[in-house]
Amino acid sequence: MSEAAVRDVLIIGSGPSGLTAAIYTARANLAPLVIEGQPSSTSDQPGGQLMLTTDIENFPGFIEGLAGPELMGNMRAQAARFGAEFLTTKVERVDFSGSPLRVWAPDPSTGETVEHRARAVIVSTGARSLMLGLPAEERLLSRGVSTCATCDGFFFRGQDIAVIGGGDSALEEATFLTKFGETVTVVHRRKELRASKIMQDRAFKNPKIKFVWDSVVTDITGEQKVDGLKLRNVVTGEESHLPVGGVFVAIGHVPNTALFDGWLDMDANGYLLTAPGSTATNIDGVFAAGDVQDHTYRQAITAAGSGCMAAIDAERWLEAAAS
Ligand code: NAP
Repeated sequence: MSEAAVRDVLIIGSGPSGLTAAIYTARANLAPLVIEGQPSSTSDQPGGQLMLTTDIENFPGFIEGLAGPELMGNMRAQAARFGAEFLTTKVERVDFSGSPLRVWAPDPSTGETVEHRARAVIVSTGARSLMLGLPAEERLLSRGVSTCATCDGFFFRGQDIAVIGGGDSALEEATFLTKFGETVTVVHRRKELRASKIMQDRAFKNPKIKFVWDSVVTDITGEQKVDGLKLRNVVTGEESHLPVGGVFVAIGHVPNTALFDGWLDMDANGYLLTAPGSTATNIDGVFAAGDVQDHTYRQAITAAGSGCMAAIDAERWLEAAAS
């Protein structure tokens, strides 16, 4: 196993938060190393969740919108232009017990584990949406299957839409989608919702929202784009087809934080905890940015904003530590 020189800043993750942190720390002459992950699955390929998004129309500054991979490619090139270095590999282990902070990842070409050492680490490993696990879901992602109503609701104007799930996210998405859809059908596997009372009341009062209870999605139909859902009632066994133009999967999110178990403080759902008004974690020199510490907003622009905050926090922390 080899070990590298001690860096000022190491960034784990390459979504909008990690890449924005890279742009800012690179421009502050901190020569960041970004360990960007690997394109090994749909959930954590380099570039994060936006690599799975076809059209982004709400990232400020792009009048006509742009594709997710294009936005991430631009951010990566911008960071590289100022001297950020990238390693396309996944961190396997960290040790935050002292300074320098230590991070292990396989070398992308040899596979040999390399120990990376840095004074400051920015964690921006993101979160992933839980999915139903149906083959059609992956095939039709961004072709009628979505996990973000704020991002994609606009594309379903005048259509019938389905939302899967019975928690706060599902009802929040459903309520939001009534601005666009002709109808919004919430498909839930039980007959009681998990969502808070206030969200339930709001959804029950909304004339555009319908509910299909005790039902699971067995398939998503449509060749080039979604045209419906195959449902099975888990009580009666009855099969049915629900024609919809879009389906929003809202069965929860999981932050990518397993790596930091035992090191960084997390909430009950595994999101990293940061000091109020800051990106500082419980470990000196470790900062967290983006969806890994935000289960409320989950937008590219908010992730980018917190990546900027983490870069500034890290820069100031390094300055203070050096003086
Ligand atoms: P959640 O509370 O875990 O709810 C997930 C929902 O999806 C549950 O109804 C669950 O069914 C269903 N589900 C899970 N796996 C499924 C599967 N394989 N097939 C079909 N259905 C499945 O997740 P969430 O709604 O994303 O909320 C996460 C946290 O964020 C919660 O604490 C929530 O209160 C909070 N949140 C708050 C707000 C707000 O206050 N504005 C908005 C969004 C989220 P079961 O009920 O049968 O388990």
